[in-house]
Amino acid sequence: MKKLSVGVSACLLGKKVRYDGGHKLDQELVSKLKRSFVLVPVCPEYEAGLGVPREAMRLVGDSVRPKLCTTDTEQDLTGQLDEWCETRSREFVEEKLCGLVLKSRSPSCGLTSAEIHSPEGVVQSVGRGLFVRALMEQIPELPLVESDGLSALEPFEKFVAMVGKYSAGIAY
Ligand code: SF4
Repeated sequence: MKKLSVGVSACLLGKKVRYDGGHKLDQELVSKLKRSFVLVPVCPEYEAGLGVPREAMRLVGDSVRPKLCTTDTEQDLTGQLDEWCETRSREFVEEKLCGLVLKSRSPSCGLTSAEIHSPEGVVQSVGRGLFVRALMEQIPELPLVESDGLSALEPFEKFVAMVGKYSAGIAY
């Protein structure tokens, strides 16, 4: 049977796309995912043209719709990321991507764990990364999951089931 495709935060796959030129390879998770799916690397910050290495960034302001700003020079990158997300979301649908595994705590990829700061740099709350927020607006039914804890049996099987259900609603 043909494997379904899911996107994965590229740094989890070992791609050197983090702001500091490093990666966050999660070998155990990648091995498990590979047995069930075709894995498509996705890095919003790199693909939106922010380069590697790049200045570190964080979410700032409103807890529901914070801005994505660089930490030192305080550039607002929200518009650039949002624009990329809109285009890439359409491609996800065309490529029949059936889910996404997202790096926890990232200001772009975090699903529920991205820190949101005050303008003075104090953590005020946690919430969605900018990419995830835009993606949920574009494709609200797409199965999304964070990487932390996903290797455990129950959450992994739950994600596999969600992807299967979503794929059943796609016309092939
Ligand atoms: Fe790129 Fe997301 Fe990984 Fe950050 S967490 S390096 S934006 S894939």
